[in-house]
Amino acid sequence: MSAGTQASAGRPLRVLLASSEVHPYSKTGGLADMTGALGRALARMGHRVGIVKPLFRGVRERFPGLRRVDWRFDLPLGDRRVDAELWLHEPERGLAVYFIGHDGYFNRAGLYNENGRDYADNAERFIFFSKCVVHLARYLPWRPEVVHVHDWQTALVALLVQHERRWGGWSEAPRTCLTIHNLAYQGYFPGWTYGLTNLPWSYFHPECAEAYGQLNCLKAGIATADRLTTVSPRYAREILTEEFGEGLAWLLRRRQAHLRGILNGVDYEEWNTEHNPHLPASYSVQDLSGKAVVKRALLREVGLPEEEGVPLFGTVTRLAEQKGLDILLPALHEMLAARMRFVLLGSGDAGYVEALERLRERYPGKVAIRIGFDPGLAHRIEAGCDFYLMPSRFEPCGLNQMYSLRYGTVPIVRAVGGLDDTVVDARESVERANGIKFHEYSAAALAHAIRKALVLYGHPALLHRYRVNGMQVDFSWVRTAGGYEEVYREALASPPVVWGG
Ligand code: ADP
Repeated sequence: MSAGTQASAGRPLRVLLASSEVHPYSKTGGLADMTGALGRALARMGHRVGIVKPLFRGVRERFPGLRRVDWRFDLPLGDRRVDAELWLHEPERGLAVYFIGHDGYFNRAGLYNENGRDYADNAERFIFFSKCVVHLARYLPWRPEVVHVHDWQTALVALLVQHERRWGGWSEAPRTCLTIHNLAYQGYFPGWTYGLTNLPWSYFHPECAEAYGQLNCLKAGIATADRLTTVSPRYAREILTEEFGEGLAWLLRRRQAHLRGILNGVDYEEWNTEHNPHLPASYSVQDLSGKAVVKRALLREVGLPEEEGVPLFGTVTRLAEQKGLDILLPALHEMLAARMRFVLLGSGDAGYVEALERLRERYPGKVAIRIGFDPGLAHRIEAGCDFYLMPSRFEPCGLNQMYSLRYGTVPIVRAVGGLDDTVVDARESVERANGIKFHEYSAAALAHAIRKALVLYGHPALLHRYRVNGMQVDFSWVRTAGGYEEVYREALASPPVVWGG
């Protein structure tokens, strides 16, 4: 091992994160929250941190501080060469955010899709992006020693780095870490797209980049990254099973020694009840009265009656099968006859949008549905509701239940993945209980949990205790970033992984 990659405890590290989504620049889900917060937390711990992401539409307008950097990519992409621009934003000390600018690939209305249809050239877009990441990792003057990639969009970076280390004269190549935020999205594309990587076809193998004749980007990363992580300890165990392994459990089991679950943190600078520009009133554990003000304002905002004493249930979610809408809708059809109200903010599958409209028509004045992406309303729903519903089929970590805990909104969750790791049910600890869990993936089990919530609502002192318990749980980023630092140091102290070797 060269001196440049020698790990010594305590020494600041040089880390390059790569992700398609990074908050506050571009976001469709929790991936963005995590990568943005991890970058900041590592920089504040004294590490040298770069984040690289695509320059999506609108970012330059919203962040006028971005400046163009002189850089030439000019990279092979199949039988062509493609160039891109490099832009830089330095939001705080020790943190550099690099943007790959390519109008044809990234200056579009959506990140991955438009009007519900994936862009036909997603393989090309993200293979190119991955190549830009590797190019930066190799030639940035501050020489990153760890490249930490996230999900399928950047998973091929691990393979590209490994290949260049062995065959491309890059003996000091960084160690790679791949975080799986969601195993259900693997980046599956027609086999011919593998040619765009310009890698030897030997990696297009069922134990690496190939699956059933197709390119599988995430699989290639799982096979070749030096370290693998997921975003909660329970999900790290679940993905080793056939039920949650999405066809890759066998490969993950093989890599188990290098796999670790690290629970995501919450960015409390953004998600807090006391200094929050999105909330019409502030409140705290000491004085919860502002929460009622937020609830009234929310009811007004979404057009529900401001009647006192009726529990409000809410959710903010991608409208995708994963999020449990198949059990949420029938459970609500059953439960909304009771004295309760429901508000949902979401975007995604058109079938679910229609089904939600039918629910609203059946229960006028009790149900409010907002379709779209609205961060401000997301905060108000988290804060203004009494109960937060998250009946996921599977949940790698889940951030919304952690936000709701901090906001004194009692989460009702299915006991899977990160939901199980973060919420405490009375059956686990009467003193520390802060939420309601159910196990079976069924509308009946969820309806039963909602009934429990209605009972809890009828006992204000107990409800208060649940709220205070939740608000006091600390998921701050220091612990999470410390976990990643350990993983990086461990990787640096070990020989690099060699696929097939
Ligand atoms: P996932 O990443 O699987 O979608 P998470 O719970 O980990 O789920 O994170 C979702 C993030 O995206 C949260 O910050 C949530 O508030 C946000 N979010 C999801 N849908 C919307 C929406 N329609 N409007 C605003 N924010 C949303």
